[in-house]
Amino acid sequence: MTANNKYKCVNCGEPCSALYRTYGPSVLKLTKCVACKGIVDKYIEYDPVIVMIDLVLMSKEAQRHILYNTDFKTFWKLFIILVMLETYAVWRSDSLFSIAVNTICDIKSSYTINSTNINLPINLSVPESWRNNCRGWVQDSKGDDSDLFIWEKDFYVQFISTFSGIMIFITTVHVLMNVLQSFATNNRGNQNFSVSSKRLLQAFSLANMSTLFALPMLVWGNTDTPPETRLVHYLLVFVYSFIVFCNVFTVLYESPMLITILVLIASNSVKHYTTFHMTPFLRGFVT
Ligand SMILES: [Zn+2]
Repeated sequence: MTANNKYKCVNCGEPCSALYRTYGPSVLKLTKCVACKGIVDKYIEYDPVIVMIDLVLMSKEAQRHILYNTDFKTFWKLFIILVMLETYAVWRSDSLFSIAVNTICDIKSSYTINSTNINLPINLSVPESWRNNCRGWVQDSKGDDSDLFIWEKDFYVQFISTFSGIMIFITTVHVLMNVLQSFATNNRGNQNFSVSSKRLLQAFSLANMSTLFALPMLVWGNTDTPPETRLVHYLLVFVYSFIVFCNVFTVLYESPMLITILVLIASNSVKHYTTFHMTPFLRGFVT
């Protein structure tokens, strides 16, 4: 891939030097792809709303358009907002991860925290080293008498913890993908390409937008919401988000779907493992 070919065909991913050519002030012709003979990027003529809808529908063409054929400069704002949202959900003990922690650690809901605990039919045996962390997850009541400062400080603790989890997630994906890619290139001939860290963060932010679907429950969920409803909602969001991440990373690394799924399962496990251990560690450190 030469430096000149900075765009990519949205249909097949073939590098391309221009998206359109102009013939005079009002004549503009969209470039055709040399590999698949399709139009390189139909989305440059489309309304942003249509692109948004196609992104929600997990279209790989729309994902390639955003990642390769637009600047997508505001990705870092998106990144920060989404980390804040995830932090808020875990801090409020209102996310799939919190439900898992509450269930594993058997934390029963106390009066002000809306923690969700699912009764499992089997008895979970938690390793002894995890039990200490479980104690760290049991929060003091966020009642009226508790200090607002402590409450706020806990948000920062949770932010660092969530942020570390996400950085670990991104690093794991990148390292695993590069290792697997180097195996694959040996069989497939020399198809050397590297993913820049900026593009990796852009891809992550783009895929992470899928977690916005958890918002309705975060906004309108209240103490009357049955735990099962929460669980089902967050599970659906997780599954949707997982598929979006699969698609985006398949586009980014041009890897087979099965490999991407395995890498994502591994990276998600490492991420949640990090957050699970990081929060109690930081809480012990601060208080
Ligand atoms: Zn093409």
